[in-house]
Amino acid sequence: MTVDKVLLASPRGFCAGVEMAIKALAWMVRAFEPPVYCYHEIVHNQIVVRRFEESGVVFVDDIADVPAGRPIMLSAHGSAPEVVAAARERGGYVVDAVCPLVTKVHHEVKTRAGKGYQIVYVGHEGHEEAIGTMAVAPEVIHRVETPAEVADLPDFENPVAVLAQTTLSHREWAGVLDAAREKFPRLWQPERSDLCFATTNRQSALMEIAARCDAMVVIGSANSSNTNALAALAREAGCPHVVRINGPAELPDDIGGTVGVTAGASAPEDLVRSVIERLSPTRGVEEVQVTAEAEYFPPPRNLRELLGAVDAVTGVTMVGPPSPVPLDDRNIDASDVLESLRLPG
Ligand code: SF4
Repeated sequence: MTVDKVLLASPRGFCAGVEMAIKALAWMVRAFEPPVYCYHEIVHNQIVVRRFEESGVVFVDDIADVPAGRPIMLSAHGSAPEVVAAARERGGYVVDAVCPLVTKVHHEVKTRAGKGYQIVYVGHEGHEEAIGTMAVAPEVIHRVETPAEVADLPDFENPVAVLAQTTLSHREWAGVLDAAREKFPRLWQPERSDLCFATTNRQSALMEIAARCDAMVVIGSANSSNTNALAALAREAGCPHVVRINGPAELPDDIGGTVGVTAGASAPEDLVRSVIERLSPTRGVEEVQVTAEAEYFPPPRNLRELLGAVDAVTGVTMVGPPSPVPLDDRNIDASDVLESLRLPG
Protein backbone atom coordinates (compact mmCIF):
# COMPACT_ATOMS: atom_id res chain seq x y z
CA MET A 1 0.00 0.00 0.00
CA THR A 2 1.53 3.33 -1.08
CA VAL A 3 -0.62 6.25 -0.07
CA ASP A 4 0.38 9.61 -1.37
CA LYS A 5 -1.98 11.84 0.53
CA VAL A 6 -5.03 11.61 2.78
CA LEU A 7 -7.95 14.00 2.28
CA LEU A 8 -9.80 14.00 5.56
CA ALA A 9 -13.47 14.98 5.45
CA SER A 10 -14.85 17.31 8.11
CA PRO A 11 -17.34 16.99 9.71
CA ARG A 12 -17.02 13.23 10.16
CA GLY A 13 -17.66 10.73 12.94
CA PHE A 14 -19.66 11.32 16.10
CA CYS A 15 -22.71 13.56 15.75
CA ALA A 16 -24.39 15.39 18.64
CA GLY A 17 -26.92 12.58 19.15
CA VAL A 18 -24.25 9.89 19.37
CA GLU A 19 -22.11 12.08 21.65
CA MET A 20 -25.09 12.44 23.99
CA ALA A 21 -25.97 8.72 23.99
CA ILE A 22 -22.42 7.50 24.57
CA LYS A 23 -21.77 9.93 27.41
CA ALA A 24 -25.15 9.15 28.99
CA LEU A 25 -24.38 5.42 29.01
CA ALA A 26 -20.91 6.09 30.38
CA TRP A 27 -22.42 8.14 33.22
CA MET A 28 -24.81 5.24 33.89
CA VAL A 29 -21.82 2.88 34.06
CA ARG A 30 -20.14 5.16 36.56
CA ALA A 31 -23.25 5.66 38.67
CA PHE A 32 -24.67 2.13 38.96
CA GLU A 33 -23.31 -1.19 40.05
CA PRO A 34 -22.88 -3.46 37.03
CA PRO A 35 -24.51 -4.68 35.02
CA VAL A 36 -26.24 -1.77 33.37
CA TYR A 37 -28.55 -2.98 30.59
CA CYS A 38 -28.96 -1.34 27.22
CA TYR A 39 -31.81 -2.07 24.84
CA HIS A 40 -30.28 -2.52 21.38
CA GLU A 41 -26.81 -1.32 20.48
CA ILE A 42 -26.43 2.13 22.02
CA VAL A 43 -25.20 3.27 18.59
CA HIS A 44 -24.44 1.20 15.51
CA ASN A 45 -20.73 0.66 16.01
CA GLN A 46 -19.14 -2.64 16.99
CA ILE A 47 -16.15 -1.09 18.68
CA VAL A 48 -18.25 1.27 20.80
CA VAL A 49 -20.49 -1.64 21.80
CA ARG A 50 -17.51 -3.85 22.68
CA ARG A 51 -15.98 -1.16 24.88
CA PHE A 52 -19.19 -0.83 26.83
CA GLU A 53 -19.50 -4.61 27.15
CA GLU A 54 -16.02 -4.67 28.65
CA SER A 55 -17.25 -2.07 31.15
CA GLY A 56 -20.13 -4.23 32.34
CA VAL A 57 -22.94 -3.18 30.01
CA VAL A 58 -25.23 -5.97 28.79
CA PHE A 59 -26.97 -5.32 25.46
CA VAL A 60 -30.36 -6.97 24.97
CA ASP A 61 -32.84 -7.11 22.10
CA ASP A 62 -35.76 -7.92 24.39
CA ILE A 63 -36.68 -6.00 27.53
CA ALA A 64 -37.82 -9.33 29.04
CA ASP A 65 -34.11 -10.28 29.24
CA VAL A 66 -33.48 -7.49 31.77
CA PRO A 67 -33.77 -8.68 35.39
CA ALA A 68 -36.41 -6.71 37.32
CA GLY A 69 -35.08 -3.64 39.06
CA ARG A 70 -31.92 -3.23 36.96
CA PRO A 71 -31.07 0.08 35.27
CA ILE A 72 -31.88 0.21 31.56
CA MET A 73 -30.79 2.57 28.82
CA LEU A 74 -32.74 2.80 25.57
CA SER A 75 -30.66 3.41 22.46
CA ALA A 76 -30.17 6.60 20.42
CA HIS A 77 -32.28 5.26 17.53
CA GLY A 78 -35.53 5.63 19.45
CA SER A 79 -37.75 2.88 20.80
CA ALA A 80 -41.33 1.84 20.21
CA PRO A 81 -43.78 3.16 22.84
CA GLU A 82 -44.46 -0.41 24.05
CA VAL A 83 -40.72 -0.96 24.56
CA VAL A 84 -40.47 2.20 26.66
CA ALA A 85 -43.49 1.07 28.69
CA ALA A 86 -42.06 -2.45 29.14
CA ALA A 87 -38.75 -1.01 30.32
CA ARG A 88 -40.53 1.15 32.89
CA GLU A 89 -42.52 -1.87 34.08
CA ARG A 90 -39.32 -3.76 34.90
CA GLY A 91 -39.03 -1.40 37.83
CA GLY A 92 -35.46 -0.26 37.31
CA TYR A 93 -34.12 3.15 36.43
CA VAL A 94 -34.85 3.88 32.76
CA VAL A 95 -32.92 6.41 30.69
CA ASP A 96 -34.11 6.97 27.14
CA ALA A 97 -31.11 8.14 25.08
CA VAL A 98 -33.17 8.71 21.94
CA CYS A 99 -31.73 11.50 19.78
CA PRO A 100 -33.93 14.63 19.98
CA LEU A 101 -34.12 14.66 16.17
CA VAL A 102 -35.67 11.19 16.18
CA THR A 103 -38.05 12.32 18.93
CA LYS A 104 -39.12 15.13 16.59
CA VAL A 105 -40.17 12.57 13.98
CA HIS A 106 -42.01 10.47 16.60
CA HIS A 107 -43.86 13.62 17.60
CA GLU A 108 -44.78 14.40 13.98
CA VAL A 109 -46.12 10.86 13.53
CA LYS A 110 -48.22 11.15 16.67
CA THR A 111 -49.58 14.58 15.77
CA ARG A 112 -50.44 13.74 12.16
CA ALA A 113 -52.02 10.41 13.14
CA GLY A 114 -54.09 12.29 15.73
CA LYS A 115 -55.31 14.65 12.99
CA GLY A 116 -56.47 11.77 10.82
CA TYR A 117 -53.61 11.64 8.33
CA GLN A 118 -52.22 8.62 6.55
CA ILE A 119 -48.43 8.76 6.77
CA VAL A 120 -45.94 7.84 4.06
CA TYR A 121 -42.71 7.09 5.91
CA VAL A 122 -39.47 6.88 3.94
CA GLY A 123 -37.18 4.53 5.83
CA HIS A 124 -35.09 1.38 5.61
CA GLU A 125 -36.74 -1.96 6.28
CA GLY A 126 -35.60 -3.47 9.58
CA HIS A 127 -33.68 -0.39 10.75
CA GLU A 128 -34.22 0.20 14.47
CA GLU A 129 -35.10 3.86 13.98
CA ALA A 130 -37.73 2.99 11.37
CA ILE A 131 -39.18 0.22 13.57
CA GLY A 132 -39.43 2.53 16.59
CA THR A 133 -40.95 5.38 14.57
CA MET A 134 -43.53 3.23 12.80
CA ALA A 135 -44.63 1.75 16.12
CA VAL A 136 -45.88 5.20 17.20
CA ALA A 137 -48.90 4.87 14.87
CA PRO A 138 -48.66 1.52 13.07
CA GLU A 139 -52.25 1.61 11.82
CA VAL A 140 -51.74 4.69 9.62
CA ILE A 141 -48.07 4.51 8.63
CA HIS A 142 -46.81 3.10 5.32
CA ARG A 143 -43.07 2.54 4.91
CA VAL A 144 -41.56 3.04 1.44
CA GLU A 145 -38.05 3.22 0.05
CA THR A 146 -38.55 3.79 -3.68
CA PRO A 147 -40.76 5.84 -6.03
CA ALA A 148 -42.24 2.54 -7.28
CA GLU A 149 -43.40 1.71 -3.76
CA VAL A 150 -45.06 5.13 -3.54
CA ALA A 151 -46.90 4.44 -6.80
CA ASP A 152 -48.19 1.16 -5.34
CA LEU A 153 -49.79 2.87 -2.32
CA PRO A 154 -53.60 3.10 -2.25
CA ASP A 155 -55.31 6.39 -3.14
CA PHE A 156 -56.03 7.40 0.44
CA GLU A 157 -59.22 9.31 1.18
CA ASN A 158 -57.65 10.88 4.28
CA PRO A 159 -55.05 13.66 4.06
CA VAL A 160 -51.50 12.35 3.56
CA ALA A 161 -48.22 13.36 5.26
CA VAL A 162 -44.68 12.35 4.35
CA LEU A 163 -41.97 11.81 6.99
CA ALA A 164 -38.49 10.31 6.91
CA GLN A 165 -35.84 8.35 8.74
CA THR A 166 -33.30 10.93 9.91
CA THR A 167 -30.27 9.22 8.39
CA LEU A 168 -31.45 9.01 4.77
CA SER A 169 -29.27 10.62 2.14
CA HIS A 170 -30.78 13.48 0.12
CA ARG A 171 -30.59 11.25 -2.95
CA GLU A 172 -32.61 8.51 -1.25
CA TRP A 173 -35.16 11.06 -0.09
CA ALA A 174 -35.56 13.37 -3.09
CA GLY A 175 -36.86 10.84 -5.63
CA VAL A 176 -39.36 9.36 -3.21
CA LEU A 177 -40.56 12.81 -2.15
CA ASP A 178 -41.16 13.79 -5.78
CA ALA A 179 -43.13 10.59 -6.35
CA ALA A 180 -45.20 11.20 -3.19
CA ARG A 181 -45.94 14.80 -4.27
CA GLU A 182 -47.08 13.60 -7.64
CA LYS A 183 -49.36 10.92 -6.22
CA PHE A 184 -50.70 13.06 -3.35
CA PRO A 185 -50.77 16.70 -4.56
CA ARG A 186 -51.93 18.04 -1.17
CA LEU A 187 -49.14 16.21 0.65
CA TRP A 188 -48.15 17.59 4.09
CA GLN A 189 -44.50 17.67 5.06
CA PRO A 190 -42.73 19.26 8.02
CA GLU A 191 -41.38 22.78 7.60
CA ARG A 192 -38.03 21.56 8.80
CA SER A 193 -36.80 18.43 7.04
CA ASP A 194 -36.52 15.19 9.03
CA LEU A 195 -33.11 14.55 7.45
CA CYS A 196 -30.65 15.42 10.17
CA PHE A 197 -27.91 18.04 9.91
CA ALA A 198 -25.19 15.56 10.83
CA THR A 199 -26.01 13.19 8.00
CA THR A 200 -26.22 16.06 5.53
CA ASN A 201 -22.96 17.66 6.69
CA ARG A 202 -21.00 14.38 6.50
CA GLN A 203 -22.29 13.82 2.99
CA SER A 204 -21.41 17.37 1.89
CA ALA A 205 -17.88 16.95 3.26
CA LEU A 206 -17.49 13.67 1.40
CA MET A 207 -18.70 15.24 -1.86
CA GLU A 208 -16.16 18.02 -1.42
CA ILE A 209 -13.26 15.54 -1.57
CA ALA A 210 -14.67 12.67 -3.68
CA ALA A 211 -13.60 14.02 -7.09
CA ARG A 212 -9.98 14.37 -5.91
CA CYS A 213 -9.66 10.83 -4.52
CA ASP A 214 -8.33 7.62 -6.07
CA ALA A 215 -9.97 5.73 -3.23
CA MET A 216 -12.35 6.47 -0.37
CA VAL A 217 -12.27 4.86 3.08
CA VAL A 218 -15.53 5.07 5.04
CA ILE A 219 -15.17 4.03 8.68
CA GLY A 220 -18.24 2.57 10.36
CA SER A 221 -20.25 -0.57 10.95
CA ALA A 222 -22.24 -2.47 8.33
CA ASN A 223 -25.50 -1.84 10.21
CA SER A 224 -24.94 1.94 10.36
CA SER A 225 -27.37 3.57 7.95
CA ASN A 226 -25.48 6.83 7.57
CA THR A 227 -22.17 4.97 7.07
CA ASN A 228 -23.70 2.96 4.24
CA ALA A 229 -25.16 6.15 2.78
CA LEU A 230 -21.67 7.71 2.76
CA ALA A 231 -20.19 4.71 0.95
CA ALA A 232 -23.03 4.71 -1.60
CA LEU A 233 -22.61 8.42 -2.20
CA ALA A 234 -18.86 8.04 -2.81
CA ARG A 235 -19.59 5.35 -5.41
CA GLU A 236 -22.27 7.49 -7.07
CA ALA A 237 -19.79 10.38 -7.15
CA GLY A 238 -17.54 8.21 -9.30
CA CYS A 239 -14.88 7.37 -6.76
CA PRO A 240 -13.15 4.33 -8.34
CA HIS A 241 -12.42 2.42 -5.13
CA VAL A 242 -14.67 2.71 -2.06
CA VAL A 243 -14.22 0.59 1.05
CA ARG A 244 -16.24 0.52 4.26
CA ILE A 245 -14.23 -0.74 7.18
CA ASN A 246 -14.73 -1.19 10.92
CA GLY A 247 -11.12 -0.27 11.66
CA PRO A 248 -7.51 -0.26 10.40
CA ALA A 249 -7.17 -4.06 10.35
CA GLU A 250 -9.68 -4.21 7.49
CA LEU A 251 -7.83 -1.82 5.18
CA PRO A 252 -7.18 -3.58 1.87
CA ASP A 253 -3.61 -3.65 0.52
CA ASP A 254 -4.55 -2.39 -2.94
CA ILE A 255 -5.40 1.11 -1.79
CA GLY A 256 -3.13 3.93 -2.90
CA GLY A 257 -2.71 7.40 -4.38
CA THR A 258 -4.87 10.11 -2.87
CA VAL A 259 -7.18 8.51 -0.32
CA GLY A 260 -10.28 10.15 1.14
CA VAL A 261 -11.16 9.29 4.72
CA THR A 262 -14.47 9.86 6.46
CA ALA A 263 -16.43 8.21 9.26
CA GLY A 264 -20.10 7.55 9.92
CA ALA A 265 -21.85 9.33 12.79
CA SER A 266 -21.27 6.45 15.21
CA ALA A 267 -17.55 5.88 14.57
CA PRO A 268 -15.08 7.20 17.18
CA GLU A 269 -12.28 9.57 16.24
CA ASP A 270 -9.53 7.29 17.58
CA LEU A 271 -10.45 4.84 14.81
CA VAL A 272 -9.95 7.60 12.27
CA ARG A 273 -6.53 8.33 13.75
CA SER A 274 -5.47 4.68 13.66
CA VAL A 275 -6.68 4.28 10.06
CA ILE A 276 -4.63 7.32 8.99
CA GLU A 277 -1.63 5.93 10.86
CA ARG A 278 -1.94 2.67 8.93
CA LEU A 279 -2.37 4.51 5.61
CA SER A 280 0.76 6.46 6.46
CA PRO A 281 0.50 9.03 3.63
CA THR A 282 3.87 10.19 2.27
CA ARG A 283 2.60 13.74 1.64
CA GLY A 284 0.57 14.02 4.82
CA VAL A 285 -3.07 14.78 5.64
CA GLU A 286 -5.20 17.64 4.30
CA GLU A 287 -8.38 18.20 6.29
CA VAL A 288 -11.24 19.60 4.21
CA GLN A 289 -13.93 21.24 6.32
CA VAL A 290 -17.25 22.26 4.78
CA THR A 291 -18.85 23.48 7.99
CA ALA A 292 -18.31 23.51 11.75
CA GLU A 293 -20.86 21.76 13.94
CA ALA A 294 -21.69 23.37 17.27
CA GLU A 295 -24.81 21.35 18.15
CA TYR A 296 -24.92 19.92 21.66
CA PHE A 297 -27.58 17.68 23.16
CA PRO A 298 -27.48 17.49 26.98
CA PRO A 299 -27.97 14.14 28.74
CA PRO A 300 -31.61 13.01 29.08
CA ARG A 301 -33.39 15.08 31.72
CA ASN A 302 -33.98 12.29 34.25
CA LEU A 303 -30.33 11.26 34.09
CA ARG A 304 -29.30 14.86 34.77
CA GLU A 305 -31.67 14.97 37.70
CA LEU A 306 -30.37 11.66 39.01
CA LEU A 307 -26.76 12.73 38.76
CA GLY A 308 -27.62 15.98 40.49
CA ALA A 309 -29.55 14.43 43.34
CA VAL A 310 -28.13 10.97 43.96
CA ASP A 311 -28.94 11.07 47.64
CA ALA A 312 -32.56 11.83 47.01
CA VAL A 313 -33.08 8.79 44.81
CA THR A 314 -34.55 5.72 46.41
CA GLY A 315 -35.05 2.26 45.07
CA VAL A 316 -31.95 2.15 42.88
CA THR A 317 -28.59 0.67 43.74
CA MET A 318 -26.03 3.41 43.44
CA VAL A 319 -22.33 3.20 43.95
CA GLY A 320 -20.06 6.16 44.57
CA PRO A 321 -18.76 7.22 41.16
CA PRO A 322 -15.03 6.51 40.79
CA SER A 323 -14.68 10.02 39.46
CA PRO A 324 -17.21 12.84 39.47
CA VAL A 325 -20.03 12.49 36.96
CA PRO A 326 -20.37 15.88 35.30
CA LEU A 327 -23.77 17.52 35.18
CA ASP A 328 -22.71 19.69 32.26
CA ASP A 329 -20.81 17.53 29.79
CA ARG A 330 -20.82 19.99 26.89
CA ASN A 331 -17.05 20.27 26.79
CA ILE A 332 -16.33 16.57 27.19
CA ASP A 333 -15.78 14.48 24.05
CA ALA A 334 -17.49 11.11 23.87
CA SER A 335 -14.31 9.71 22.25
CA ASP A 336 -12.35 10.66 25.38
CA VAL A 337 -15.05 9.16 27.58
CA LEU A 338 -14.83 5.92 25.61
CA GLU A 339 -11.07 5.91 25.99
CA SER A 340 -11.41 6.40 29.74
CA LEU A 341 -13.65 3.32 29.92
CA ARG A 342 -10.61 1.27 28.93
CA LEU A 343 -8.55 2.59 31.83
CA PRO A 344 -8.59 0.62 35.07
CA GLY A 345 -10.95 1.95 37.80
S1 SF4 B 1 -27.27 10.97 12.93
FE1 SF4 B 1 -28.63 12.73 13.34
S2 SF4 B 1 -30.55 11.80 14.03
FE2 SF4 B 1 -28.97 10.21 14.19
S3 SF4 B 1 -28.21 10.39 16.29
FE3 SF4 B 1 -26.92 11.70 15.02
S4 SF4 B 1 -27.83 13.75 15.16
FE4 SF4 B 1 -29.37 12.27 15.85
